[in-house]
Amino acid sequence: MMSFNADLIVRAKLVLSLPDVVRGRADCRPLGCVEDGAIAISNGRIVSVGLSDDILRRYRARRYIDASRYIVTPGLVDPHTHLLYHGSREDEREEILGGVSYGDILARGGGILRTMRETSKADREILLTSLATRIDALLESGVTTVEVKTGYGLSPQDEARLLEILGEAVKTSLVDIVPTLLAHVPMPGVDFKTLVEAYRGSLVPRALELGVRFIDVFCDRGAFNPEESRTILRLGRSLGLVPRIHADEFSYIGCSDVGLEVQAVSLDHLNQTPSEIVKRIAVSDSTAILAPSTALAIVGKKPPSRELLDLGAIVAIATDHSPALMNLNMVETINLAVNYLSIPPGNAIAAATVNAAHSLGLKGEVGSIVEGSKADLVIWSFPHYRWFGYLMHRSPIVCVIKNGMVVKNPGGCVVHEGL
Ligand SMILES: [Zn+2]
Repeated sequence: MMSFNADLIVRAKLVLSLPDVVRGRADCRPLGCVEDGAIAISNGRIVSVGLSDDILRRYRARRYIDASRYIVTPGLVDPHTHLLYHGSREDEREEILGGVSYGDILARGGGILRTMRETSKADREILLTSLATRIDALLESGVTTVEVKTGYGLSPQDEARLLEILGEAVKTSLVDIVPTLLAHVPMPGVDFKTLVEAYRGSLVPRALELGVRFIDVFCDRGAFNPEESRTILRLGRSLGLVPRIHADEFSYIGCSDVGLEVQAVSLDHLNQTPSEIVKRIAVSDSTAILAPSTALAIVGKKPPSRELLDLGAIVAIATDHSPALMNLNMVETINLAVNYLSIPPGNAIAAATVNAAHSLGLKGEVGSIVEGSKADLVIWSFPHYRWFGYLMHRSPIVCVIKNGMVVKNPGGCVVHEGL
């Protein structure tokens, strides 16, 4: 039999290939389990995945990782973050713990508005450096693709500056960054009509030039109302951006209705979404992106995670990192998805990989271990996927592989030369 050359072969007790979007209860079939599996990698891409006997017969590898006691999943995909900002708000966090509502903090000029003021004073270098530091921390927790939103601009010009900085980070980051243009909260002194003109005349066109694909709106009380959100998302769509929406996080005022109406690729948060809307989301192609740490620590109310799963929705999870709560840990996010949102471990890993990739239009490229996809992998010190959310180790990650290279190695993956 002819043998092919590969740069790297990874052998594992269990490979979760996650070949397709997972709806409903995930067992080994939708998760694409391969027991005693192996993955052949060449030029940073996956060239083959299958039984290890078969892969080792067909491929000669320059390098080899023996993870035959462990499971391997795709690199994690964090589909909702606010990583580009300056400053911190730990004092507000303490107030929220004492019972003050986030709405009250925002109403007095704190929260997002405070971060907008602080971000506008920070120079480009500081913003780029802090963004890179945060993304590196996420990489340590297995994240190899991350969505990052703008939204802390104090003026349309400021938003344009954040778009440019994000564009720069996309070019230099090891972790793949998916940038999103976000209308976060109304900018002080900028009326809605002026804002829409800025989106039409400069922000959306510049975003498109920089390769941005998504537009997002924070639709809620104290942010944008459903009518304004519809206007912004429709405008973005008409100019070539794909809508996402922050919907029903703190109150239900009809935001998820707008998300469904504009066919947003993701409806995010959903803490207050009524049952009849949950049913409509479940039969749509939109991904329900849940933020377990935000639900627990900021909102204080769970989203209807079990209802969404049972009805067959595409469910993803995200850190929702922001200065309201600096979650830089996707492993902890999986733990919370399992133990707080009652998402079964198989669904939790699907939510952090293939389903999240689907919401970013990247299925087949990242979030799965399939022929042709990026060789982004995480090796876990578990014997089975049921251990997600069960073994709450400091770091269950043995190593993280990005584009076929070991880039984080807390558990000491040994790369053997030649095979
Ligand atoms: Zn958000």
